[in-house]
Amino acid sequence: MKILAFDIGGTEIKYAFCDENFNLTEKKSIPTNAHEGGKRIIERVVEIIKNCDGIDRIGISTAGQVDSKRGEIIFATDSIPGYTGTKIKEIIEAETGIPTAVENDVNSAAIGEAIFGAAKGVDSFVCLTYGTGIGGAVYLDNKLFTGASFSAGEFGHIVTHAGGRSCTCGGKGCYEAYASAKALVGDVAEKIGRNMNGREIFAEFDNPEIRDVIDNWIDEIVIGLKSLIYIFNPLLIVAGGGIINEAYITDEVNKRLEDELMDSFRKVKVVKAIMGNDANKLGAAYLASKL
Ligand SMILES: [Zn+2]
Repeated sequence: MKILAFDIGGTEIKYAFCDENFNLTEKKSIPTNAHEGGKRIIERVVEIIKNCDGIDRIGISTAGQVDSKRGEIIFATDSIPGYTGTKIKEIIEAETGIPTAVENDVNSAAIGEAIFGAAKGVDSFVCLTYGTGIGGAVYLDNKLFTGASFSAGEFGHIVTHAGGRSCTCGGKGCYEAYASAKALVGDVAEKIGRNMNGREIFAEFDNPEIRDVIDNWIDEIVIGLKSLIYIFNPLLIVAGGGIINEAYITDEVNKRLEDELMDSFRKVKVVKAIMGNDANKLGAAYLASKL
């Protein structure tokens, strides 16, 4: 079976071929040109598919909230104008006649990690991605849990500080306002009066002022994770996002969780996502292979 797998993000559309052993080949990427709108993005995806021969299935991982049964975008922010309501599966299948699976990008990545990556062989885990915000996915009893309206796992907006910092969702005190990579960058800038990115912050790890901010930020990560652990009782928490590659973070988070969790929950381990950019495409390809 030959699958063409796409990963549609706000800045890039990445795609690759995927064989029956789930090897990705001929990885390519084009700019999303999000300002041209959701309709045009899907037209360009269709053009790419039509230029490839012998494709049996299409797998699509995409930004936005996705009704994965219908393969359409329920909601997308203005980062891709007009994307909300786009019937991706219907359009692609009508234009190409090739069965198509569509899933949200964080959920696709969770499936990629579940089948091929950090959570291989683990039947219940949660995924979190620490970036500008905090994305999440819930994988229970060997399948993705998507909730009543395909939106489960919005962990960035669980409230960890009632009445606290304002959040992009309109609420106050959300987890991502304190524990995202963006929050760390903001906290460092406030403390030392310099704008530094994540890499620069960790390069000055020995600066006690910066170290202090990092340690407080790790406490914020732990506060949110504790709630998730008590809700889901997962064996594993798969953490992604460039900043998580700093080993100090996962080491410290695991240490603090072990100190703070009730006995029966302490088996849980926080590990880094290992599939990187390929997780989304592989997850989408896997879903497509099951059509
Ligand atoms: Zn929020």
